[in-house]
Amino acid sequence: MTDFWHPFASMGAVEASGELTIVRGEGAYVFDDRGRRLFDSSGALWFANVGHGRSELAEAAAAQMRKVAAFSNYAELVTEPTAALATRVAAVAPTEGSKVFFTGGGGEAVETAAKLALRYWQEEGQPERRLLISRTNAYHGSNGIGTGLGGIAGNRAGYERLLADWRAVEWDDAGALERAIEEAGAGSVAAFFCEPIVGAGGVLIPPDGYLSEVEAICRRHDVLFVADEVVTGFGRVGEWFASTRFGLRPDLITCAKGLTSGYVPLGAVIASPRVSEPFFRAGAPVWRHGYTYSGHATAAAVGLANLDILEREGLIARVRELEGPLADALVPLAQLPGVDTVRAGTGLLAAVTLSGERRGQDPGWAARVVLELLEHGVISRLLADGSLQISPPFVATEEDFALLADAISKAVEVELAAPAAS
Ligand code: PLP
Repeated sequence: MTDFWHPFASMGAVEASGELTIVRGEGAYVFDDRGRRLFDSSGALWFANVGHGRSELAEAAAAQMRKVAAFSNYAELVTEPTAALATRVAAVAPTEGSKVFFTGGGGEAVETAAKLALRYWQEEGQPERRLLISRTNAYHGSNGIGTGLGGIAGNRAGYERLLADWRAVEWDDAGALERAIEEAGAGSVAAFFCEPIVGAGGVLIPPDGYLSEVEAICRRHDVLFVADEVVTGFGRVGEWFASTRFGLRPDLITCAKGLTSGYVPLGAVIASPRVSEPFFRAGAPVWRHGYTYSGHATAAAVGLANLDILEREGLIARVRELEGPLADALVPLAQLPGVDTVRAGTGLLAAVTLSGERRGQDPGWAARVVLELLEHGVISRLLADGSLQISPPFVATEEDFALLADAISKAVEVELAAPAAS
């Protein structure tokens, strides 16, 4: 029996199977309480970008805690690392002159961006722009607005009415966005939310040209373009942001995970000058929004040290170098009888979709493949579409990718040969 209620879990199943306890991490590997050394193929939840066990980050946290762990950042107050991290993030943002609003994580960043988009239009004298548009298969976190914007059916079930003004469009069809805006009337649309590469929905890489097309459609209809870079931000696709890689200049960017490599919780919204200007001008109103931990000093100190590591070790360039080898290791798996498709090739981000036929016959099958992977030295997780999530730390090596591919092929083979659960 556990007292801990696990997120995204059937607790009945956890009570039956037992928990899997992780006790330590080192680079691209973690160790469980049975002493197994496991390749962290998913970078935990897409966040362990600089790898595990970095004492430098622990020291940055301890040093800041000794000075002042945190204080209020409301009104005119600010803590030192908070201001420094905002400057550092603004310096790498796709649009010069951006402002940075810190949150506790990705979900709060999405809430913040959505509320800011609505508030922006009120300040601009167009309060009727209230509609938010997002995409099928999208994941924007588990908070209220993020759940309302989400496109993964299971996550929405029971919460369909959270957002009064919301539309979804097909994730890969730019024309569908334009039609939705025209049908609603451009003057009623506040913002379009878009993961440059859909993450939890299955690592879906949009068709060539899609992202610049949707950005141009937003510009044409004066709709705010919001890039949700909670997964892709801070190097995951071999540039600071996917927006940088794809030549986008979003009005708002949401980010989290890679900002601290998950060492402490921290998220941010990066607002372009267009959106921030009405709130920064002389006589601007108070934007009545914020969190107790917005810009938490210790989290910011860790963020600064994390960015130091990314820069000093050239880890973002390394992602670019490794994206080809990762794809080369994984693509042959698509030939296996238990695998439907492999999506890879943009950054250290990939998905191996397990057989839909087998999953249809035996709903627990894919979860058993994930358990079997542990026996072959790999920890992974299943995405909503039955894919294995592949998003390793940036310090992973080509040897690790070979081990990963071998483990997947063995685990799939073992579980294909096992009798189906009745
Ligand atoms: N947006 C995207 C694209 C995400 O992938 C996630 C989390 O995985 C979130 C938002 C929510 O972030 P958090 O879990 O930190 O609230």
